[in-house]
Amino acid sequence: MRKKLAKKQNQSTGEMKKLVGIPVSPGVASGKALVLHSEDFRSIPKEKVGAGQIPQEIARFEDALTRTRADILGIRKKLSEEIGREHSDIFMAHLLVLEDRSLIEDVITTIKEKRVNAEYAFSIVIQKYFHAFSQIDDEYLKERVSDIRDIARRVIENLIGKEKSPLANLTEKVVVIAHDLSPSDTAMMDKEKVIAFATDIGGPTSHTAIMARSMEIPAVVGLDHVSQDVQTGDSIIIDGNHGTVILHPDAKALSAYAHEEQRFIELTSELDKLRNLPAVTTDDHPIELAANIEFPEEIPSVLAHGATGIGLYRTEYFYMNRTDLPTEEEQYDAYRTVAAKMKPFSVVIRSLDLGGDKFLSSLEVPHEMNPFLGWRAIRFCLARVDIFKTQLRAVLRASVHGNLKAMYPMISNLTELRRANEILEECKKELKKEKKPFNPNLPVGAMIEIPSAALTSDALAKEVDFFSIGTNDLIQYALAVDRVNEKIAYLYEPTHPAILRLIQEVIINGHKNKIWVGTCGEMSGDPGIAVLLMGLGIDQISTSPLLLPKIKKAIRLVPFELAKEVATKALKFSTGTEVQKFLRTKLTRFLKELMTEGI
Ligand code: PEP
Ligand code: MG
Repeated sequence: MRKKLAKKQNQSTGEMKKLVGIPVSPGVASGKALVLHSEDFRSIPKEKVGAGQIPQEIARFEDALTRTRADILGIRKKLSEEIGREHSDIFMAHLLVLEDRSLIEDVITTIKEKRVNAEYAFSIVIQKYFHAFSQIDDEYLKERVSDIRDIARRVIENLIGKEKSPLANLTEKVVVIAHDLSPSDTAMMDKEKVIAFATDIGGPTSHTAIMARSMEIPAVVGLDHVSQDVQTGDSIIIDGNHGTVILHPDAKALSAYAHEEQRFIELTSELDKLRNLPAVTTDDHPIELAANIEFPEEIPSVLAHGATGIGLYRTEYFYMNRTDLPTEEEQYDAYRTVAAKMKPFSVVIRSLDLGGDKFLSSLEVPHEMNPFLGWRAIRFCLARVDIFKTQLRAVLRASVHGNLKAMYPMISNLTELRRANEILEECKKELKKEKKPFNPNLPVGAMIEIPSAALTSDALAKEVDFFSIGTNDLIQYALAVDRVNEKIAYLYEPTHPAILRLIQEVIINGHKNKIWVGTCGEMSGDPGIAVLLMGLGIDQISTSPLLLPKIKKAIRLVPFELAKEVATKALKFSTGTEVQKFLRTKLTRFLKELMTEGI
């Protein structure tokens, strides 16, 4: 108990503290923290209500209690049937909290006296309860705090609606701190208001990290317990270049980071000068630099960063944060806009890659033990042909407005690829019958992100027009390392010899069959690795638009002959660390500060 109090006092004095995590999106930002927990009631927005609205707020509160009671009784019944009465009785304690007259009266009085919205009144009253319980020196009662938290979370959800995230209506600039953020939480963020974020968990290729880069928000993940160390309103600095977070910075730290922020802005504008220069080596070997996008709104940023195409348009975000499915017409409009705005450059539209760390509110997909190995991506689309066809028809129709290509994610064998192509042919037949125009020769590619696909790429290459190596997943599947788990992030090695050999195999098989081979994973965002990939013979590198200028600069600093030599030698090492060391030794002379900068 004493220990806990000591920690609290330490926090409130606001001593400066440095936390180190994984940098996932570049840039530096400082500001006030907004801490989000699913059970966090400090971040519930406070709204003033007029005298006339008070009865309505009380009614909302009572209605939420009734609905929560019904939810609990439903869960209790289900549990009782599934695992027995004695386990389901733990919910009796929850019901008692809901019936606690003094709690209910307290909330109603707060609404009336403070003239605030019901959820805010409830959140401040419930916090008094947490506090009182945590002070009691009785282990059993202390444990009841988690029951109260659970029940309180349910009441709040019933009051504000699950989809009404505190991120949706921010009124001032904040640094978001959370245990975890889902890609859909991130997608909901207002980029003007959320200036940076930091989370306890996550890795560099989690979709939350990818979203941060796409939105150009500095971010650090894998910080372990940042969400416990920080309080809403604390002053905080996020350094997304180096993966550090400074809590309660003093004047000296603030000035140092303001300097770092300025340096980053200057470096970015320096690199932006390369925008219109070609991505060629010093001996004129060209490579296509394309961008990965999640939203059509990113196109100005794609062009501003000098991309000459979109190598991966992740369409899942179309399906997120909504309760219905996007129609063919809606998708057609979006794909047509992207195709037309990028014309004559090509745009690779990836079919729905649901699953893994991306879940859709509109689809009742059952929870799985191993979501990354489960019913996802092309597996899901081949089972839900209706959803797949709607998307393919939209892509086909949009293909007359620009240079579009379609791509299937998570192909693990030739049968899946053939089935997907059959469905595409069915869509073409339908459109022909309906006299709707489309490109009958729409190029089709397979993502190579599963080792079985890489090792059978000789067969797959005969039935597609291109390959795009999805290294984010290829690394996770080849090395058996969950890409979002920060505890094993040290094992997630892009330069592992197994990865380099798989990539080489795919490039050789693609080229033997006269198709182009690109990469669209995050690893190519590292300048040294981009040179290595180029030496292995990759034709296109597609990554976050933000990282492209740096890669272009690296490419323009080296001769192709050197890249090939680097690739040949890199393939001979036995560990990923040796490869990294070799890249540093060999390339620092050419790439200079590009090798030592943070991301
Ligand atoms: C990949 O797996 O490398 C990839 C680009 O796709 P995603 O990150 O969306 O899984
Ligand atoms: Mg993938």
